[in-house]
Amino acid sequence: MPTITSTSPQRPSDVVAEVDTASAEEVHRRAGVARDAQRGWWAAGAAARSDALRRVAVVLRERTDEAATLITREVGKPAGEAAGEVARTVAILEYYAQACFSAVGESYPPSMAGQLWTERRPHGVAGLITPWNFPLAIPIWKAAPALAVGNGVLWKPSPDSVGCAELLGELLDAALPDGLVQVVNGGADTGEAVVDAADVVSFTGSVAIGSQVTAAAARRGVPVQAEMGGQNAAIVLHDADLDRAASTIASAAMSYAGQKCTATRRVIAIGDEVRQRAVEEAVVAAVRDLRVGDPADGGVVAGPVITDAARRNVLDAIEAAQSGGAQVLAGGDPGDGDGWFVAPSVLTGAAPEAPVNTEETFGPLVTLLGAGDVTEAVALANTVRFGLVTSVHGADVDGLLAAIAGIDTGLIKVNAPTSGVDFYAPFGGEKASSYGPREQGTAALGFYTSTRTVTFAPEYP
Ligand code: NAD
Repeated sequence: MPTITSTSPQRPSDVVAEVDTASAEEVHRRAGVARDAQRGWWAAGAAARSDALRRVAVVLRERTDEAATLITREVGKPAGEAAGEVARTVAILEYYAQACFSAVGESYPPSMAGQLWTERRPHGVAGLITPWNFPLAIPIWKAAPALAVGNGVLWKPSPDSVGCAELLGELLDAALPDGLVQVVNGGADTGEAVVDAADVVSFTGSVAIGSQVTAAAARRGVPVQAEMGGQNAAIVLHDADLDRAASTIASAAMSYAGQKCTATRRVIAIGDEVRQRAVEEAVVAAVRDLRVGDPADGGVVAGPVITDAARRNVLDAIEAAQSGGAQVLAGGDPGDGDGWFVAPSVLTGAAPEAPVNTEETFGPLVTLLGAGDVTEAVALANTVRFGLVTSVHGADVDGLLAAIAGIDTGLIKVNAPTSGVDFYAPFGGEKASSYGPREQGTAALGFYTSTRTVTFAPEYP
């Protein structure tokens, strides 16, 4: 059986985990096991499901240090952010443990004697396909609501985070009924088999893969949602506090080496030449202030990118932009260290329609653009095919409201970083960034259930 080996991006000789891949046949067999276990899980009722999810939260909290250290080692996330991810994962589990008690239907006035009501029921087995960059939080923001409303889970983690998946799988197994959660490892073939075997599908990853997943699930007629990439803009109004805006933007662009779907990729400065230059200087200074290095060292904001191929991809994007006339104001090179490091890089002078501005480069790279006014800035922000998140920085209420009204992304942050998600509010994008219903909060409970309508007459009319 082929195996997957996951290594540490800051020390590529450090083998973190080695696991077997699951064949398509194995995925279907495991889906059957999860489906059998799901019936008992659903029948056990809300209190039993709530207890079990809470037990997962308790054990994960107890093992915070171990989990955070593993995240840092396997996917290169800076230690502080890794601990934050574990805390967030615990909070998501606690939230959905309570959500087990949410209303599961509505009552309507009947058109004849009797009752008319709806009830939401689990689909069966939820097929979850996840990326490596939030190796605990993303799987749990899918699995916890799916389980809370009574589904089983068939989960395919990214090959780059199989060690974290092993740990999470172990914690879930210990608290939940046997067989209810199945972790299947592998690449595209295993992922395709998950889409083929599941009763509902939730995907997070790139647009290229996400669009294949949504098409395959739609062909089978099963509900599907996909959260994909972004090419997120930060708009800086004429009256924004430059220091605060620049440090917020630098951190949103570069923390975790820019490996977040919500990272800032483009900065659009509103104003004349002088103002645009001032924004440029402030952003470059703030980026240069960030500590780069071993993500296990406290205070480091940006470690390596996930693989050598990811590093090549960022450096190639910079090179292509330079040949198109862009200038590098910071970074532009691999930086120090044995691992897959890329120095946080700032570009200016790339045409708005250049690939570096229109396509997602998943790494520490941000470009600077200028606009004469809010209308022009919003139009520029909206030119890309993505629509995940935009931040707007400034004090002028009319300008902020005009930007909010015109922006076509699913999330808008005012005087806040593009990155960062509140797990209890709906999360998702527009255009190529997302497909299907929103994730997180109560929206997720709706996605993992199907509604049926019951007309009940005590006797024939
Ligand atoms: P990816 O698309 O390469 O992989 C995502 C998952 O899909 C992995 O588990 C992968 O093994 C699996 N996969 C690959 N081929 C498949 C196929 N044919 N069928 C089914 N599954 C298949 O993405 P990645 O490199 O792991 O993650 C980075 C991407 O994820 C970026 O584009 C980023 O913007 C996006 N992302 C989006 C969000 C969001 O919520 N919008 C969050 C995090 C990451």
